[in-house]
Amino acid sequence: MEKKCPLCKKTKPVSEFYNNKSRKDGKEWCCKACLQEKRHKAYLERRDMEIKKARQWQMNNPIKVAGYKRKFNQANPMASRYYNLKAKNREKFQISIEDFYSWYDHEPKECFYCGIPSDLLKNVKQYTHKKSNNLFTIDRKEPNGNYEIENMVLACPLCNLIKSNLFTASEMWEIAQRYIKPKWQQIAGVALTPLIPPVKLRRLSKEEMNLLPKVLTVKAISLPSVVSRATIDKVKEINPGREFEEV
Ligand SMILES: [Zn+2]
Ligand SMILES: [Zn+2]
Repeated sequence: MEKKCPLCKKTKPVSEFYNNKSRKDGKEWCCKACLQEKRHKAYLERRDMEIKKARQWQMNNPIKVAGYKRKFNQANPMASRYYNLKAKNREKFQISIEDFYSWYDHEPKECFYCGIPSDLLKNVKQYTHKKSNNLFTIDRKEPNGNYEIENMVLACPLCNLIKSNLFTASEMWEIAQRYIKPKWQQIAGVALTPLIPPVKLRRLSKEEMNLLPKVLTVKAISLPSVVSRATIDKVKEINPGREFEEV
């Protein structure tokens, strides 16, 4: 049995037509291929309409849209970074979101250059020019290279800024290890031990002074700004038999 399709004007076996009990011969009026094409076209038209409607709604509701975007970005910081990087870097950004997540999961959460860990990054944000979050930036070791697993590292905002296109990854590593890392250690050292101020910075109490019988009273007030080097030397000079402990 054969039947002619009025759309493509081809005569085809009835098996090439879908069943339709409501029709006299029990078969669709046009062939499977034509029907599928019609359905697909209708689907595309409907989809275009939906997209147009959605775009129009977005244009009419900018505040709501901004709110949704903010919520999404807060809930999915890595996803939002993925899409931002992708939008900005197009052909240089071919990595899939799965690979991107997997890269991030396996990457040590510290600056590739200076080594500052993520939990400390927020303590030094006044130096890194990063206002709100403590997320690392994603740096390309080879700045003109692609965003690929081999070329991406996590870097603190300061190292990323300094490196820019000026230093190679290994140069930046040397700079950061030599100059930036010690600074973080200094700052973190103070920030992490706030309960015990360094002895140098406080006067000893009377009790503490009494526990130090051999030490001259001058020691207790020998803060650099109070007693000059010359004065201390003078005290030593006129007390040749005494034992001194300088702070
Ligand atoms: Zn047909
Ligand atoms: Zn760094």
